[in-house]
Amino acid sequence: MQAVLFSAPETLHIERVPDPPCAPDEVVLQVSRCGICGTDVHIYQNEYMSDFPLIPGHEFSGVVVETGRAVTDLQVGDRVAVDPNLYCGHCDLCRNEMANHCLHWQGIGISRPGGFAQYTAAPARACYRLPECLTDTQAAFIEPLACVVHAMKRIRLLPADPVLLLGAGPMGLLLLQALRRMGAGAVAVVEKQPARLELARQLGATLALPAGQEDALHELAPRGFGVVVDATGIPAVIEGALRFLRPRGLYLQFGVAPNHARVSISPYDLFRNDWTLVGSFALCYTFLPAIDWLANGAIDVTPLVSHVAPLQDFASLFHQFAAGQTLKVHIQPPPA
Ligand SMILES: [Zn+2]
Ligand SMILES: [Zn+2]
Repeated sequence: MQAVLFSAPETLHIERVPDPPCAPDEVVLQVSRCGICGTDVHIYQNEYMSDFPLIPGHEFSGVVVETGRAVTDLQVGDRVAVDPNLYCGHCDLCRNEMANHCLHWQGIGISRPGGFAQYTAAPARACYRLPECLTDTQAAFIEPLACVVHAMKRIRLLPADPVLLLGAGPMGLLLLQALRRMGAGAVAVVEKQPARLELARQLGATLALPAGQEDALHELAPRGFGVVVDATGIPAVIEGALRFLRPRGLYLQFGVAPNHARVSISPYDLFRNDWTLVGSFALCYTFLPAIDWLANGAIDVTPLVSHVAPLQDFASLFHQFAAGQTLKVHIQPPPA
């Protein structure tokens, strides 16, 4: 089959590789769509937890083409999305409802072959059969939206609380819609790209401000924001984010920063303001609510896709995505 291979840091090829084997408790999928994600860029730059070589891709859906002999609840032809976070289910952390911190965690497209390929294998227990109404575009957003749903469960958002969202890339634009669904009051978005600001306005931002004009935030929330969300992963943005928090405010680190990045905060301010700092890693059994939100139209993903392209175009689109020149890019591997 054809697949994208990250053979070493900052090195990628499209190559012919053997088809994936089908283990007894797994299925093999023909990949329909796989989304390029900021995490793929961090992997490529060797600032994440992956080893090389790797077939990346963790935001995908596909059609079952083979089932292992122990698989009873999936059949050839089923359309499924895959939760790429593989949890063991029996370690201390899994048993404490923290499966995303499983001691034996594996990630499809992170620590084992992923979806930028014609075929990929996945444990049957990680597959979610798709409602017929979901398009391939929506299906490839289940995983990123499930990460957003996990974040919504991590924060405490009071009704009508003003929220500040830093960054309006594809994930920021999902967060914006989710925060509004969760009952946020005014939602201000700060972003450097004008086209993304326009999309943020269309998708319900109360105020969409170019980066550098943050002074205008004071009018919207004179005491600061109840929740501030970073969806940039940029250390300089993160370091400046706390100054927008109201007393009792909550800061959410959603954007993925390089794993070696450091920022400084004032412990005194944290103490003096009753602030809460929250992280949100991946997802934790949040595929079903994400599927529901997409199926009932609560979250609109159509405007978030800038490119749907064949596998052959991966390299150029990946570099454009990494440079912030695209929104979500969906790759469609060629059928067999
Ligand atoms: Zn992702
Ligand atoms: Zn576990």
